[in-house]
Amino acid sequence: MDCLFCKIAAKKISSEIIYEDEWVTAFLDVNPLTEGHTLIVPKKHAENILDLDDNAIGPVFAAVKKVTAMLEKSLHPRGFTIGINHGKISGQSIDHLHIHVIPRYTSDGGGSLHSVVHFPPTASLKETKNKILNA
Ligand SMILES: [Zn+2]
Repeated sequence: MDCLFCKIAAKKISSEIIYEDEWVTAFLDVNPLTEGHTLIVPKKHAENILDLDDNAIGPVFAAVKKVTAMLEKSLHPRGFTIGINHGKISGQSIDHLHIHVIPRYTSDGGGSLHSVVHFPPTASLKETKNKILNA
């Protein structure tokens, strides 16, 4: 088991765990972007959401809600950015699914998800829809 997040979930590597249940471990990111920046990982290894067992999807997303509520109550941020880097091109650095919950504070210097990428398509929405539905 060479996966860093599997080791954290198995407590072979210590981390600041703030929530845990039979499905997930949620721990503070070691390089926090803001106070309370948390990663939620499924206990059973899955590289990304496509690799995650269907029966884990509900529990994992429920844990995202629980952790967000905990951070809201304790740290009183002004909002959150919640997201997944999926694949190397998006910045995924550990090949074990992890959902970032990043508390947002006034003047934190961050942007929205719309600031992540700037590559609008030349195809029309209808062409794109047809590509998706006809695949
Ligand atoms: Zn893993």
